[in-house]
Amino acid sequence: MLAPTPPDAGWQFDNSYARLPEALFTRTMPVPVSAPRLVVLNDPVAADLGLDTAALREAGAALFAGNEVPPGAEPIAQAYAGHQFGHFTNLGDGRAILLGEQLTPDGRRFDIQLKGSGRTPYSRNGDGRAALGPMLREYLISEGMHALGIPTSRSLAVATTGEAVLRERPLPGAVLTRVAASHIRVGTFEYAAALGDPALLPALLDHAIARHYPEVAAADDKAAAFLDAVIERQAALIARWMLVGFVHGVMNTDNMAVSGETIDYGPCAFLDAYDPATTFSSIDRDGRYAYGSQPGIAHWNLARLAESLLGLVPGGEEAALEAAKSTIATFPERFERHYLAGARAKLGLTTEEPGDRELFMAVLRWMHETGADFTATFAGLATQAEADTPASCGAAGAAFAAWCTQWRARLARQPGSPADTAAQMGRVNPLVIPRNHRVEEALTAAEAGDLAPFERVLAAIRRPFDDTPDNQPYRTGPLAGCGPYRTFCGT
Ligand code: AMP
Ligand code: MG
Repeated sequence: MLAPTPPDAGWQFDNSYARLPEALFTRTMPVPVSAPRLVVLNDPVAADLGLDTAALREAGAALFAGNEVPPGAEPIAQAYAGHQFGHFTNLGDGRAILLGEQLTPDGRRFDIQLKGSGRTPYSRNGDGRAALGPMLREYLISEGMHALGIPTSRSLAVATTGEAVLRERPLPGAVLTRVAASHIRVGTFEYAAALGDPALLPALLDHAIARHYPEVAAADDKAAAFLDAVIERQAALIARWMLVGFVHGVMNTDNMAVSGETIDYGPCAFLDAYDPATTFSSIDRDGRYAYGSQPGIAHWNLARLAESLLGLVPGGEEAALEAAKSTIATFPERFERHYLAGARAKLGLTTEEPGDRELFMAVLRWMHETGADFTATFAGLATQAEADTPASCGAAGAAFAAWCTQWRARLARQPGSPADTAAQMGRVNPLVIPRNHRVEEALTAAEAGDLAPFERVLAAIRRPFDDTPDNQPYRTGPLAGCGPYRTFCGT
């Protein structure tokens, strides 16, 4: 009897990155694991990719742990460099494999990458593996970011390997399947520039433009137009992070995608209490990547991108340098424009007045002074917009009541009913974010084999703006006295 044909999951791979000059990658297969098991599969992401979820579940463990490679994939590990905490290093996918690019039925292209799939030529001293907790964490936070409307890589699946990974202690090993517009980083350009092969950089630039900025393909000075476009997307992205209290944690240039998506979730987390100095990463001792430092760091990283592109700008190095400097110098004002627009929306402001920025800064200062919760404060304001008597404004103390009076006076100077304002604020101020204590709770249970808390957090963060009884437990910060939250980089 013939063996049944395996169901076709709908893979439609192209491998355009693997057609670039070979210096940019190494052909490498994922390393098979002993006892693969599918832990979670993202049905909406699968559907968006044009994949059949039932067929994926059947192929499941072997596919998502890297024991089998989908038809049409040409697995590679990508080479890149990066400034890590300010210092230049050669890196590359040390524990990730790009399977290829899935073409969706409607013609979009997505990288499908396995993370934690074993050693590669770029592993240096690492084991090429990842632990279950951090992979589920990336799954949760990236889903949360997506639900908040913030450009991000997505997570298709997590599979366990049946093998332990040794970190501070032995942990269950896992592989995350990541979906991204691409994995081209600022560090990829740094790598191509550092190699000094004149063919590399133009090939990489054309590839990145074709994938992410086709509108600049016809520009006279493609490198400058590309830089300008990346700066604009990054300014918008970092503003979005700041407006939801997201701290990336490791904004090295190798963790910044030129597509403008949030990528490489490591020791990232969301603010509970508002404090610009907040860091979560155990390895960020100087606070280089603290919440409040993120716009400045993005600016710094983009200057590294500009430097990598210098050789491509027509008209000689000196002219190129001057042009790049003036483009880079636009980052702060672009960031500010996106940030202020988002700040106005958070406050329910539909018109523009010169005092709006200060009004926003004043409520941030109040939060900082009192340790108020960032997300809950803005969510609460939405209800205040509609209240006849601003009861909880008063309950939060005289300083907040005074600020509220100012804010309500400002709202009164714009058209639109209080109900409209409240509804508009409710669309931009989330009730639910992936709170650190809830995420940790879920990961601890998952490590012990109980996925129910993970599923509950996932359900709550997927509907961040919905006022439902189910998401009530996910709206508040941790109880006082739990100590500062830390994520560890032994991911
Ligand atoms: P990350 O901090 O996760 O962005 O990783 C920085 C660099 O270290 C990248 O080149 C990773 O591929 C590499 N890396 C991180 N963890 C491991 C590991 N367990 N084994 C090998 N390489 C790793
Ligand atoms: Mg990285």
